[in-house]
Amino acid sequence: MSDRAGADGPIRTCIGCRERRPQGRLVRLNVDDEGRLRLDRAGPGRGAWLCAASAAACLVRARDHRGVDRAFRRPVDRASVGALIDELSGGSVTGP
Ligand SMILES: [Zn+2]
Repeated sequence: MSDRAGADGPIRTCIGCRERRPQGRLVRLNVDDEGRLRLDRAGPGRGAWLCAASAAACLVRARDHRGVDRAFRRPVDRASVGALIDELSGGSVTGP
């Protein structure tokens, strides 16, 4: 069966809408050493997750609810969050 848990990877929670989804349906975020938010599909370290289908909208929600800072347990650069929202709303975020 294709819908068993684990088929798309472990379950993660979107930091925007708090929806729990298989990892394969989400996009991964990371922060660099400067505290700037970025997309990071394979990097090490702490990650946070957004719904792939609505990444821009979910990131807006996360920002408005301080979910970004909370997810990374550190202050995240506001300008980088805004820039990533622009990027997500303008381009394809479906990933591989
Ligand atoms: Zn979401």
